[in-house]
Amino acid sequence: MKTSAVDVLIIGGGPAGLSCAIELKKLGVGAVRVIEREAQAGGVPRHSNHLGYGIRDLGKFMTGPAYAKTYVAKALKAGVVISTATTATNWTQGTSVETTSQAGIEIIHAQAIVLATGARERARNARMVPGARPAGIYTTGSLQQAVYLRHLEVGAKAVIIGAEHVSFSALMTLSHAKVKTVAMITDQLKHHSVPGAVLLTKLFYRFRFLAGTQLIEILGNSRVSGVVLQDKAGHTSRIECDTVIFTGNWIPDNELLRRSPIGAPGVFSIGNLELPIKSADQCALQARESARLIASHVSSASALKNG
Ligand SMILES: Cc1cc2nc3c(=O)[nH]c(=O)nc-3n(C[C@H](O)[C@H](O)[C@H](O)COP(=O)(O)OP(=O)(O)OC[C@H]3O[C@@H](n4cnc5c(N)ncnc54)[C@H](O)[C@@H]3O)c2cc1C
Repeated sequence: MKTSAVDVLIIGGGPAGLSCAIELKKLGVGAVRVIEREAQAGGVPRHSNHLGYGIRDLGKFMTGPAYAKTYVAKALKAGVVISTATTATNWTQGTSVETTSQAGIEIIHAQAIVLATGARERARNARMVPGARPAGIYTTGSLQQAVYLRHLEVGAKAVIIGAEHVSFSALMTLSHAKVKTVAMITDQLKHHSVPGAVLLTKLFYRFRFLAGTQLIEILGNSRVSGVVLQDKAGHTSRIECDTVIFTGNWIPDNELLRRSPIGAPGVFSIGNLELPIKSADQCALQARESARLIASHVSSASALKNG
């Protein structure tokens, strides 16, 4: 088993992890390593192929993939080591973690460990939706990975569950994949995106918007064939579709955080793991701020070690 040591180990190579790493290097921290379980670093923006990234942190208006590439390039230029296809699987002690990659298991010791593992949309299983478990059910994240990274066929007619920013991102992705959105439903009384979001997108994409409506069953055997809905008055209706997209309803990706040694000095968390869910630029800026605290921890830990 390989062992190595760095000053700061960052787990998660999304906007928060990379932004923190860049700032740490600017602050003079020596060895900063980011590990990312996916084949490429960049986090969610890698597959969020629409404009809206980079406004507050980079002063630009970019697509997700361009934004992700910019952060990776900046990190490499700053001297950050990025290990992709590498997953942090457990803690060994204090600020040491076990990682797994094709090269095998590696124990990495660090003065500080920064958790930047992000947040995910709650998947169907965790939403307690009755009905069969056919193919054709996605979250926005898994939809975007299927469409933009794997170029897979998704379906023909979709219903989007949820009406927040990310739901409109799903709408655009479906359109890009030539899937017709037939309805967007939310159990809330109104959508939670920018003013006019429903009005404008309905004009363009022509879908039904059903507020105060609950999904009560998914129909279909091998493939989704429809959904059963219930309105506030208790009336049920059915919409035929072959695809269902669950959007929003975020949960932090906190498995490692939950297993972290309680109260261990030198363990930090940043980005959407901490703030589900904020935009990428807000996460990057928060991570930049946190870098100061982390750098100061590293310098006191080093001073202590060297007597
Ligand atoms: C569909 C969609 C559209 C969006 N649109 C916009 C937009 O237009 N503008 C905007 O500003 N924001 C947008 N956002 C939000 C933005 O993408 C997030 O705020 C941002 O990605 C959060 O950054 P992060 O670094 O905290 O987490 P993430 O981007 O989620 O990165 C976390 C990384 O950690 C890795 N990881 C997790 N566990 C481990 C482990 N154990 N070992 C190694 N690696 C691990 C993951 O693979 C991931 O790459 C959108 C989000 C979604 C889902």
